[in-house]
Amino acid sequence: MAPVPTMIKTSPTAADTIVAAATAAGEGAIAIVRLSGPDAPAILSRLFRPCRLAEPFSARCLIYGRIVAPDGTPVDDVMAVHFHAPHSYTAEDVVEIHCHGNPLLVRRIIDLCLDAGARMAHPGEFTQRAFLNGKLDLTQAEAVADLIRSQSLASQRMALQQLDGRLHQLIAGFREALANLLALVEVHVDFPEEDIDRPLQQVLQTQADDLCQQMHDLLATFDAGRVLRDGLAVLILGRPNVGKSSLLNALLGEARAIVTEIPGTTRDLIEEQLQIGGVPLRLVDAAGIRDTADLIEAEGVRRTRDRASTADLVLLVVDGHQGVVPEDRLALSACDRNRVLLVMNKADLPQQPLCADFADLPRVTVSARTGAGMESLRQAMLSAVHAEHAGGESFFLSDRRHRDALLRAERATRQFQAGLRDGIAHEYLALDLRDALDALGEITGETTPDEILGRIFAGFCIGK
Ligand code: GDP
Repeated sequence: MAPVPTMIKTSPTAADTIVAAATAAGEGAIAIVRLSGPDAPAILSRLFRPCRLAEPFSARCLIYGRIVAPDGTPVDDVMAVHFHAPHSYTAEDVVEIHCHGNPLLVRRIIDLCLDAGARMAHPGEFTQRAFLNGKLDLTQAEAVADLIRSQSLASQRMALQQLDGRLHQLIAGFREALANLLALVEVHVDFPEEDIDRPLQQVLQTQADDLCQQMHDLLATFDAGRVLRDGLAVLILGRPNVGKSSLLNALLGEARAIVTEIPGTTRDLIEEQLQIGGVPLRLVDAAGIRDTADLIEAEGVRRTRDRASTADLVLLVVDGHQGVVPEDRLALSACDRNRVLLVMNKADLPQQPLCADFADLPRVTVSARTGAGMESLRQAMLSAVHAEHAGGESFFLSDRRHRDALLRAERATRQFQAGLRDGIAHEYLALDLRDALDALGEITGETTPDEILGRIFAGFCIGK
């Protein structure tokens, strides 16, 4: 992991020692009980009998031995390791006990640690300590949670980049540029009678322009970043019998939606998750949109309309053998044309020519039955959301909290530029720059309000 370039919010190392299972609940080959804090080594030596007596705990070395209760009852054969402060995840003394993966054993070892003076860790408290002790900035701490939760290769890659400090470095660069601007402006705050002269004003404008452009470029990655992280909501829409369920199954590679010959059978919404090129997708196969007297089907149609207006991408499926019919036009009218990918299905049968009002939509021709054209469909789905570069090195902004703060920073910098043009008082110019700096500091953790910090760490699991 790249070192954190600047020291962040620090606090004296916590006085108490926390304990929690670091591994998920349930049976497994091993489980890990983790302690962090000044008493962690002492608690370990009270409970742990090394196999080879008097073996010293050299740093970061696993030692084989047994956990024994104070009354002499053997509990489990384990491996234990001591990470000496500050060379640990939390920067405190950290001890890990690798025991057998039985939930009762884990509970018993945690109880013994509690009896020996530790207290139960809160959710995310290990990572919170790492953050407070300057081991991670806030973006990196959040990346830890993202990495644990990520459901796709793309989101894993993004979380790892963030953990490596990519976002931190970008934000640190912006902050440095703002600090330079502020230094230039503040010289004049002390001499208010002197106007900022033309050449300097030009320099400030150019630097601010440059900075705004860089912030803007990073902000522009958000839509694709959000999709890479949370998944793309794709609606498969079309009238009955055009082959929506068959298409869903062909994309999934399994027969999950029921394929029948009776029109209108896909009455409810079926949601399936899959990855294309590492990008997570949530595919919904929906009822077609049409006027219907059947109440259940009418409800399905209503839900489909809702989905059609909110989906990231609509695959509008048309039976290419029959050609476009009025019901297909009704379906298209429920969608935002910019987010529609036209899928001409049944390419294995003779095709009708495409009518003019559908001809300008981005289009792929497939046969869900033979699988022809499916690879082009996958690629077209990725390009429709500009996620085709997901495997590359570029960094995507993916967290709404980061985006909102960066937007505020960009706005404050633009306000600074406008003020500079209008010749407003220097102290107001400095205020805009400070607002921008504060907004950026919220991303990395320096100026994040405590309640937001609390909310972020409360979202972690216990033991992380
Ligand atoms: P849905 O009602 O739109 O979900 O359509 P289905 O997937 O249930 O398919 C309706 C009928 O069309 C079934 O008999 C499928 O076997 C058939 N079908 C689906 N895709 C193709 C295709 O690409 N070629 C041909 N020839 N038939 C298809």
